[in-house]
Amino acid sequence: MARPRYHVLATLPVAWWARKRLGVAGALAAGAMGILIDGDHLVDFAWMRMTGRRDKFLAPLHAWELLALAGVYAAWLRRRRPAGTPDIWGEVVAGVALGWWFHMVQDIATNRPDHAGAYSILNRLWRGFDRDSSGWAGHATFHQWGGAPWWKWL
Ligand SMILES: [Zn+2]
Repeated sequence: MARPRYHVLATLPVAWWARKRLGVAGALAAGAMGILIDGDHLVDFAWMRMTGRRDKFLAPLHAWELLALAGVYAAWLRRRRPAGTPDIWGEVVAGVALGWWFHMVQDIATNRPDHAGAYSILNRLWRGFDRDSSGWAGHATFHQWGGAPWWKWL
């Protein structure tokens, strides 16, 4: 599993690189999103605590569709920033999209789901967020972190 400390190590150089293109605000947003997006696993943790089962993959932000929306929004802001929208907002949204994309790529590479559709929210929704049928069959240690103390998640 791509643990937060590995996301920090991989993401911070990308955020540093991004500062020339997206500005400091965009770089900070990329760094924050690339690391903190895993906070959405708290939804999975709540599910595991309530049911005692590890049979669902919820992680609502681990979703190509939402990433695509963020990317489209960032591109739209770059081309047609509405009057009154501060410049920094476009940088932040672009940084969020960059950090999000980079996180997803790391997760695909290191978590090795059965297919990239495991990170499609529509695929998971269609399958009732079932872990095995949505792309995590055969991952015996799936969400095993949920039984460990929180400081070991990092
Ligand atoms: Zn992740």
